[in-house]
Amino acid sequence: MTKTAKTSNGKWEREIPTVPSSARRAIRQKLLRWYDRLGRDLPWRRRRNDPYAQWVAEVMLQQTQVETVKTYYERFMKRFPDVPALARADEHELLMYWQGLGYYRRADHLHRAAKIIASDGGQIPNTTEELLKLPGIGRYTAGAIASIAFDRRAAAVDGNVVRVLTRLSGWSDASTPQRTLQRVWRLAESMIPAKRCGDFNQALMDLGATVCVTGRPRCEACPLKRECKSRNEFGDSNVAHQTKPVQRNSTVRPAVREVRRCVALLNRRGAMLMIKRPAGGLWGSLWEFPNVEADGDDSSRALRTLLHSMKCDMGRKLTRLGTVTHRLTHRLYTFNVFHLDWPTGHVHMRPTSQRAPWRWVSANQLRDWPMSTACRKMLLLTC
Ligand code: SF4
Repeated sequence: MTKTAKTSNGKWEREIPTVPSSARRAIRQKLLRWYDRLGRDLPWRRRRNDPYAQWVAEVMLQQTQVETVKTYYERFMKRFPDVPALARADEHELLMYWQGLGYYRRADHLHRAAKIIASDGGQIPNTTEELLKLPGIGRYTAGAIASIAFDRRAAAVDGNVVRVLTRLSGWSDASTPQRTLQRVWRLAESMIPAKRCGDFNQALMDLGATVCVTGRPRCEACPLKRECKSRNEFGDSNVAHQTKPVQRNSTVRPAVREVRRCVALLNRRGAMLMIKRPAGGLWGSLWEFPNVEADGDDSSRALRTLLHSMKCDMGRKLTRLGTVTHRLTHRLYTFNVFHLDWPTGHVHMRPTSQRAPWRWVSANQLRDWPMSTACRKMLLLTC
C-alpha cells in the first residue's frame, strides 16, 4: 500500500514506492543473471562501448518498434558509421536512409546534434547533463546512452520499465500521471547498481518487453517473481487487473482526426513530379506528390483547380487510380489518388508553392527518393 509523507514544502504527498535494500540486491543480481542468459540479441548491443552506435539506436527507438528499427539500423550505420560521417551527411541522403522509420524530425535532430559534436571536438558527451543539451535527446535517451555506453549510474525509464517497476513495487496509483512518472524515475534511480548500469537498464527493458508484458504478464517465467509485490499480493493471473499502467502524458487520448486529400501522380515520360515539404512538422523535408484537401467525399474538383493553377493541360485525362489510407497516431488519412500524363512537363507552381523545391523524379530515383510511407503506398497503385 502506498503511504503518505510530508514534503519539505509542507504538503502531504504519496511516498515513492520503495523496494527494501535487501530485495534490491537480490533483484539486481537475479535480473542481471537473467539478462546474461536471455537478454535480446540486438544489433546495437554488439557495439556496446560505442556511444555513437547507442545514440543512433536510442533515437531510432524513440517512437519506433524494435523490430522495425532492426531493419534500418545496420544500413544506416554502414553509411554513417560515426559522428563525422553523420555531420557531413547531405540532408537528402540522410532522409533516404531514414525513410520508413517515420517521425523525421528525429533525423534532423540527429544531424544537428552531430554537427554540434563534430564542431566541439568530436566526442559524444558522457553525462546525462551534457547529453541533454543536444537536440533530440530527452531524459530517457540521455540516461540510456550514459548508462549503456559509459556505465554511468543513470536511469532510463521507458514504458516497459514503468510497467515492471510499478508491478514490482506493488504500486498501482495512476491518478496523476506526471507526478507518478516522476516517482517511478526516482525509484528507478534508487535501483541502479554501482556497476553494469547499462546492462541493468536494458535488463529491465527486456523484462518488460518479453515477460512483464502489457495485459497478462508471464510471471511463471519471471526472475523476480519472489520479490514482486503485485504477484505476491494478487497472484499471477490477477496482476494485470490490479496494476494500472501509468500513462506518460495524459490519461485522455485525443480523438483521431480524419483528413481527406486528393493527390495527383503527374507523369512526364516515366518521371513523377514531386514537391519538397517544409522542414519540421509532419513528414518534414520529405517529398510528396502535388495534393490538396478534398472538396467533398471523393471529388477531384479541388485537384482540377490545383492542376489548372499549375497550367496543366486539363484536356488530358485525369484517371482515378484508387484510395490509400494511412493511419498516424492522431490522424487517419484518406488519399484519393489520380494519375495524369503530362508529356511537356512545363510546370507553373502556385504562388504558395513557388518557394518549395520541386523535381521530376525518374522511376529509378523513386526507389530511394525520401518520401513518406503513404506516398510509397500511392506509387503501388501505378504498378
Ligand atoms: Fe511482472 Fe509478474 Fe515479474 Fe511481477 S512477477 S515483475 S508482475 S512478470
